[in-house]
This record gives sequence, C-alpha cells and structure tokens, in this order.
Amino acid sequence: MPDTAAAVVSPRGAHRLVRGHPWVFRSDVDGRPDAAAGVVPIYDGHGRPLGWGLWSPRSEIALRLLDSAPGARIDGAWWMTRIATALARREAVSRDSSAYRVVHGEADGCPSLVCDRYDRWLVVQLMSAGLEACRSDIVAALQDAMQPLGILARHDAAVRRKEGLDETVEVLAGDVPTEIEIVEHGVRYLAAPWSGQKTGAFLDQRENRALMGELARGRALDCFSYHGSFALHLARRAAHVTALDSSAAALARAADNATLNGATNITFVEDDAFTYLKSAERSRARFDIVVLDPPAFAKTRASVGAALRGYQEINLRGMRLLEPGGLLYTASCSHHVSRAAFLDMLATAAGDSGRRLALRRVLGQASDHPEVLSIPETGYIKGALVEALD
Ligand code: SAH
Repeated sequence: MPDTAAAVVSPRGAHRLVRGHPWVFRSDVDGRPDAAAGVVPIYDGHGRPLGWGLWSPRSEIALRLLDSAPGARIDGAWWMTRIATALARREAVSRDSSAYRVVHGEADGCPSLVCDRYDRWLVVQLMSAGLEACRSDIVAALQDAMQPLGILARHDAAVRRKEGLDETVEVLAGDVPTEIEIVEHGVRYLAAPWSGQKTGAFLDQRENRALMGELARGRALDCFSYHGSFALHLARRAAHVTALDSSAAALARAADNATLNGATNITFVEDDAFTYLKSAERSRARFDIVVLDPPAFAKTRASVGAALRGYQEINLRGMRLLEPGGLLYTASCSHHVSRAAFLDMLATAAGDSGRRLALRRVLGQASDHPEVLSIPETGYIKGALVEALD
C-alpha cells in the first residue's frame, strides 16, 4: 500500500497516464504526497502502483510521470540512461547541424526538461519544481553524455513562476559565451544563448529552412526574419532575398550572419509585416518564394479567433505576391491553433486570394522536437508549402 510520501491519483488521472500522457492535474490528485517537490511513487485509488513521477506541490500540473515501472529507481544512473537515449535519437540531426534540441521534454520521457545543444555548449530549462529537485543528477548526466564546455540555465521562462520557482539566467557549469557560431545544413549563424529568443535560436524550423533553401530561386521574401535564418538559406539559390522584421536589433544580427556567410544578395527591411505586405500587394510586387514564420499570434486560447484572422491576412497577401509557379512556406507556432484550424485558415485565404493554389506539403517541427501523438503539448509548429499554379 502507498505510504504517506506517495501520490494517489483519481481514475481520470490514472486513465490519462495509461493512455500515454504523463501529466496529472492537481484536481486528479486524490491523495497529495506528504513530501517536498521531487520524485514520488504514484498509485491509483486501489493501491496499484503506476510508477514514479515528478511532484510539484504548487503547480496545476501536480504530477509528471517519469517511469511507469514501479520498480524503477530514479537516480543519477536513470537520468544518464534517459539523456543518452535522447542524444542517440539525434544522431542523424547532428550530422547536418551543430545546434539541435537534445531533450524535448515530455517527448523524450523527461517531462519539463529542455536541453538545446549549441556546438560545445548546452542551454537548459528546468520548468517544474519536481524537476528542480533532480537538478544535480541532470547536470551530471548532461556532462557525462556530451562533455560540454558550459551549461547555461535559461530560467527566465514565465512558466517557472507557476511552479513557485525563480526566474533567472545562470551558469550551471563551466562558462558560456554570449555568442556561439553554429552551422546548420552548411549555413553559419550566431546564436545568442543568454539573450536570444527561446534558448538562443529557433531550432524548431531547421528542416523547413533547409527545405526552402533547396527550393529557392529568383526573388525571395522572408517576413518575420529574426536573425535571418530562413533568408540565409534562401540566399544560397535565390538571386535576391528581402529579409523583413520589425526589430532593428534582430535585423542587425541577421546582417552579421549574412556577412559571416559572405551573402551579398540580402536586403534588410525594418517594417511591420502587415504594413509591408499590404503595400507590396498594392504596388504589384511579385516573388518566387515567400516565407511567413511569424511569432505566436495566439498566446491564449481566448485569442485564437483574432490570431486566425491575423494569419489569414498575411497568408492572403503572401499568396497574392507569388509569381505563377511561386512557393509559399507558411507556419504558425501557436500552441492553441490546431493543425486542422491552420489548414482551414489557409484554404479560406486561398479562396479569397483569387489565385489557384496547391498544397504541396504539410510540415511540422524539426525531428529533434518530436511531436508525440498522445501528448499534444509536444507539438506546436504547423507548417505548409503552397504552390501558385497560375
Ligand atoms: N523565422 C525565424 C523566427 C521568427 S521569430 C527563424 O526561423 O529563426 C518572429 C520574428 O517576428 C521576431 O524576430 C519578431 O521581431 C518579428 N515580428 C513580430 N511581429 C512582427 C511584425 N508585426 N512585423 C514584422 N516582424 C515582426
């Protein structure tokens, strides 16, 4: 029978775990463990053991299943095996890129843990109170698996507050520089681990960038360019690329990255994408390639409607800017916008555009960010490649 340090979950909580989703919400914890945040055994209401999980006393997500084997021991060796397994899964990605996600949280059986590799450095995010209790084992396991020169914690993520954790950026081991040069399918760029978005770069679009680099030609437009990563790939085959962003700082970094690659065919434009696309349409500008990779327009479930209208507007205009035979790569990284809603929005935009457009490919996030079917939260990027037929 469970002792007082164990968690007892409701039938609904147990059902969720058995169906492959590692979260148990606070309302499904019938017996709260008499324990500080950390690893606890989990039982159902009949006293049947369900495995071991991370206990976060203050979080809405009270338990996160680590291992469904009741006999498991969650110690340093356990973390070493989990992290080595995740790393082995990235073997193919590591051949093309020196920056990639080593641990994608729940998708790699390490709930609330993110670890991104930038060449010889690691950037981590421990995003639950339960996980924080395992910090030293995790750091040791990362060191054992990769021997990094330094490990940085980007703990400035707002979700940490919901766990009762502080928001800081701190070095956990070694030293971590402010800029790290990385290579992605032959394109070089500088990642900014201390200050850049996410953990320093958008690694999740890597394979879509490489794809667009392969398909690029003629005149290309990269809206929402950030550090220019799509633009740099496009510039390899396109005659000319326009890289647009509303942030001057992002564009300055993009220009540095262009220099790093010896790319002289990129023009940087600081503007609001909505304004730019509208005036480009009015002046009948045409592009062979258009990339739309905006920030998440829907930050909450309540804003999905407004977000879809925003996506529809930029996509409609992007479609109208295409030369016959031109290609649009379009994406949404809003968690709350489903793939079905995204594709519906595209169909509506296509209907409004007055153009005949073919859906060439439905795309998602890079393979080092696996989207587990039973855990929808592991997937957030919806992407599509669309071709203007005439
Ligand atoms: N495509 C990039 C990531 C884009 S992140 C990559 O693969 O790395 C989103 C970018 O959109 C940020 O750089 C932000 O400054 C920019 N942005 C946000 N709102 C914008 C707007 N209304 N117009 C133009 N750029 C915008």
